[in-house]
Amino acid sequence: MRAAILESQKNLKIRDIKNPDYVPDGYVKIRVKSVGICGSDVHYYSSGRIGDFILKSPMILGHETGGIAESDGDNIKRGDVVAIEPGIPCGKCIYCRSGRYNLCSDIKFFATPPVDGSMREYIVHPEGFVYNAKGLSTSEASLAEPMSVGVYAVRKSLIGPGDSVLITGSGSVGILTAFVAESSGASVTLSDVDPKKMDYASKCGFNAYLNDKIRDKFDAVFECSGFASEFALEHVKRGGDIFLIGMGNEDGLNNLKITSNEITVHGIFRYRNTFETAISIIKKYRERMKPLTEKHIGLEQLPDYLENGEYAKYIKTIVDL
Ligand SMILES: [Zn+2]
Ligand SMILES: [Zn+2]
Repeated sequence: MRAAILESQKNLKIRDIKNPDYVPDGYVKIRVKSVGICGSDVHYYSSGRIGDFILKSPMILGHETGGIAESDGDNIKRGDVVAIEPGIPCGKCIYCRSGRYNLCSDIKFFATPPVDGSMREYIVHPEGFVYNAKGLSTSEASLAEPMSVGVYAVRKSLIGPGDSVLITGSGSVGILTAFVAESSGASVTLSDVDPKKMDYASKCGFNAYLNDKIRDKFDAVFECSGFASEFALEHVKRGGDIFLIGMGNEDGLNNLKITSNEITVHGIFRYRNTFETAISIIKKYRERMKPLTEKHIGLEQLPDYLENGEYAKYIKTIVDL
């Protein structure tokens, strides 16, 4: 089978590797069809590392995965469209045993060194982390992963009808989080510093503005850019909540503003128990989500596509396998 292997920094090869032929009990074999390119894939390609995770040996990229089941599983029949949850926790540590498996330090997460990702034609995966997405295309199913972060954050926020929400950063995670927030009944505004990203948000049916046009304060702010936590603090109401989703900023927040306005700041790391909810929200909004699955490339095109920076023109690119 073909796979996209990051051999070292800026050195991505499409190679033939051995097909998985053995499917253990409790596992499902999947023909991978659609993998979204995530910022982290681009980052490992261009820098060879993200924080403490360093690429030391060749690794297959990709973790936003839609495919077709090739064998039966729990709630899955051969031929069904499926979404794959890319992190397999250890199941034994205190975080796993208390249900907070996203915090497991032994989690094996696709395309996080040294764990291989999903840009390969076949995967054999534990059935508990394979979700039925029948009725969606495999591209739409691949959105369940990036949307999961939004599901997790919105669930933690307890926002509901009548609440106002600001989402800073109108990239794919920001827009997907906006769909989740809207489905909870809140009224949603997106902001960014990049007019092109705001165009995508508008095409998806949201109110989107440049940061310096935002005047109001909001009940909750979801910071998806990684660089706007101070901006979030300026635009949250007294007693409100800020959810830090985007990674990137290592600067501190203004303590005095947080205490004197009784703001609660939540860190959001990946997600847990979110895929089924994400799939049902994608089903509800699939027409408005079309701009997120418009751009496709073939697996063979991927090395040049990353090399020449073309991915930066699109909010999301789906690699077809
Ligand atoms: Zn990602
Ligand atoms: Zn664990």
